[in-house]
Amino acid sequence: MYCNYCGKVIQDDASHCAYCGKRIGGVIGRERLVRPRAGRKIAGVCAGFAEYLDLDVTLVRLVWLITAVMTGVGILSYPIAWIVMPEEPARLEAPAGYPAPTS
Ligand SMILES: [Zn+2]
Repeated sequence: MYCNYCGKVIQDDASHCAYCGKRIGGVIGRERLVRPRAGRKIAGVCAGFAEYLDLDVTLVRLVWLITAVMTGVGILSYPIAWIVMPEEPARLEAPAGYPAPTS
């Protein structure tokens, strides 16, 4: 098979690309820092971090909010993370009745 990131040929049973070191296969969206389409409040940045770090999303939002209020960093970092973090691929989230992605 081919690496999705660098396009080089890698072993079929490889879990990581030998060339670029990216994780191959598995459940995308639980191991990559992406904004999930489900369970988001604003842009899914906190939900993405919560899934990536395996933390409670409420805890992440709380920490983010406290950081934002105390330092002002969170206010700037949220839109930055929004822009930088890719959206979770649509094909992974298709519950019945879920609105079709507009992108
Ligand atoms: Zn690669």
